[in-house]
Amino acid sequence: MEAPSRGIPGSIKCQLRQEAGFGCCICGNPVFQYHHITDWALTKSHDLLHMMVLCPNHHHEATVRALVEQEQRRRKERPSNIVNGYVDGLLKITEPGVAVQVGTNYLVGPGFKFIVDGAPLLALDRDSDGRLQLSLDLYDAADSLLLLIHNNEWITGDPMPWDVEFSHRRFVLRRKSGEVTLSIDARQAPVLLHGQLWRKGQLFEMNDDELRFNGVNPDVGFSEIGFVNSSFSADTTSGVFQLIPEPRFREACLVSWPDRAERLERCFAVIRELEQKTV
Ligand SMILES: [Zn+2]
Repeated sequence: MEAPSRGIPGSIKCQLRQEAGFGCCICGNPVFQYHHITDWALTKSHDLLHMMVLCPNHHHEATVRALVEQEQRRRKERPSNIVNGYVDGLLKITEPGVAVQVGTNYLVGPGFKFIVDGAPLLALDRDSDGRLQLSLDLYDAADSLLLLIHNNEWITGDPMPWDVEFSHRRFVLRRKSGEVTLSIDARQAPVLLHGQLWRKGQLFEMNDDELRFNGVNPDVGFSEIGFVNSSFSADTTSGVFQLIPEPRFREACLVSWPDRAERLERCFAVIRELEQKTV
């Protein structure tokens, strides 16, 4: 007989996310883990009735039974996001794509990706229902992996050194020492993305005005342009930054328009067209 797998089936994860309103059942945190209310080691099964979505901190409390089983089940029945009317979670957006401002340029696509040496370090995707999905590989200055988040699931990494702040369309990951590592503000378009991300001993900093690479603003050769369906890619060996087309739509384009708000609308219109072409 085959040994039961520790891997939770995707269909179970999907149902758990849905019933929880895409966040921790207790606090609504949009970055979460899957918890076995009845210890997996005892049941060796992934049963929807005995599992729930919790953020890493509440998951820890539940695992060490600081949060007793009865309380866990009560919260599973009445998840925070559902009670508060956020059935799609806190990171649902209404725009047809994800627009991010990098310097004076906009990157607009089905998602935003920042790729370093061929692998995404940070990705912000939008699922088919408009919910933002964060993926992050977080390294320290010595290139040790600190934490891994994939499509809002906190896969690995000790949650203790981190404070997470969140509210409707806003998520901030901060070191307990106070320094912000990643901030996503999607209350408007474009999304404001701030971050300090390390990879291979090199520092990438993003803020409202620019992206800095080891303290220097790399010249991408363009300003005041909307790049549709392009990802930002950096090579740590050559120091070269470039925009590369995302494979999903097989084509990328530039939108040049003086008025920023109108430029953004035109970029979204292109995204809608590309979506329709791929249906
Ligand atoms: Zn929580």
